[in-house]
Amino acid sequence: MLTTTTKPNAYDVALENFDAAANALGLDNDTREMIKYPERILMVSVPVRMDDGHIRRFEGYRVQHSQVRGPAKGGIRYHPQVTLDEVKALATWMTWKCAVVNIPFGGAKGGITCDPKHMSQGELERMTRRYTSAILPLIGPEQDIPAPDVYTNSQTMAWIMDTYSMTKGYPIPGVVTGKPISLGGSLGRNEATGRGVFYTIQSACEHLHMQLKGATVAVQGFGNAGSVAAQLLYEAGAKVIAVSDSTGCVYNKHGLDIHNLMHLKALTGKVEGFPEAENIGPAELLALECDILVPAALENAIRADNADAVRARIIAEAANGPLMPAADRILESKGVFIIPDILCNAGGVTVSYFEWVQDEQHLFWEAQDVYNRLERVMKTAFRDVLKIHEERNVPMRTAANMLGIGRVAEAVQIRGIYP
Ligand code: GLU
Repeated sequence: MLTTTTKPNAYDVALENFDAAANALGLDNDTREMIKYPERILMVSVPVRMDDGHIRRFEGYRVQHSQVRGPAKGGIRYHPQVTLDEVKALATWMTWKCAVVNIPFGGAKGGITCDPKHMSQGELERMTRRYTSAILPLIGPEQDIPAPDVYTNSQTMAWIMDTYSMTKGYPIPGVVTGKPISLGGSLGRNEATGRGVFYTIQSACEHLHMQLKGATVAVQGFGNAGSVAAQLLYEAGAKVIAVSDSTGCVYNKHGLDIHNLMHLKALTGKVEGFPEAENIGPAELLALECDILVPAALENAIRADNADAVRARIIAEAANGPLMPAADRILESKGVFIIPDILCNAGGVTVSYFEWVQDEQHLFWEAQDVYNRLERVMKTAFRDVLKIHEERNVPMRTAANMLGIGRVAEAVQIRGIYP
């Protein structure tokens, strides 16, 4: 029997959210059977020669949830808490996410259970190359295209691109996105998730008749998504009063200088020790009185036991799956406006799509083109989700899932079943 101490399972959350949206759509059982579950799962053993000479084995995964609307697409995560169920959940969310922003991809995710913070560059490179070789039959520009996720970056993508290309015998930049610019990466991809978060917050403020200038913001997680979102909000005149990372949390009720904080993080790897700020606990950050709360870390940050303490007006889910269904219900009853993950953080995969298109065409765009197109995609998706939320009187998360799942359902119905 489940107890309250059981670690929440992200895949259970993904299935529960699917059912809520499928019910609201009145989706027939046949279609549910076809689109709900991962299409393909690969589990691999990744032996790595560590710097001290001994061999250590890591467990890796690649899950393709859907290729109904196009090649499978999704990041690769390196984290000690990676499990198959987590990767299945993240792959499922990628499918609905790509459909919400209407880009021609399905969903996938990969991961390795490891602690990259305690590995050298050499160990990370050998692990990445061996993992790539293990998942090689699954990936490819027309099949499944990995990208960065938690604790992977453009360097990781460069190693994957190189390993894949060396095996095939010619350069294939389109096998991954989020690459360095010099290898066929797109301008603006690095900042794309945070920038997309920012655009959806702008849309939410407009909808709620709130001024972004002067609005107070708390950001949980200062990685790629959280730091860029914080920076753009700060530059737009919002007051970012608290920021945390996995090691600590800094707070100043008059607002933090985000440029200086990013500088410190780049230098020391931590936000802790930032001058003109006090240290607070992670639970305190989530409970701060603020206009906008940006959970930008991992899944299940806000649950039944801490949702009631949240005092934000808007929650912008830069992370994947930061709210558990029980938290959704509590926050909904408190009238908090939620920008759900598959909408809020879809800017990353949207610019991944732009990168893939540029690689396929061997023709590269200017940064401003990328930003303009991204803004259009994000704001259109926001409007589409909001319309369902208002017309069907369902929570924003259900509305986003209805949009995404509805598009996948339509595609599968037209394609029919093979054989
Ligand atoms: N890892 C990012 C996400 O969760 C980006 C995936 C991609 O660009 O394929 O959306």
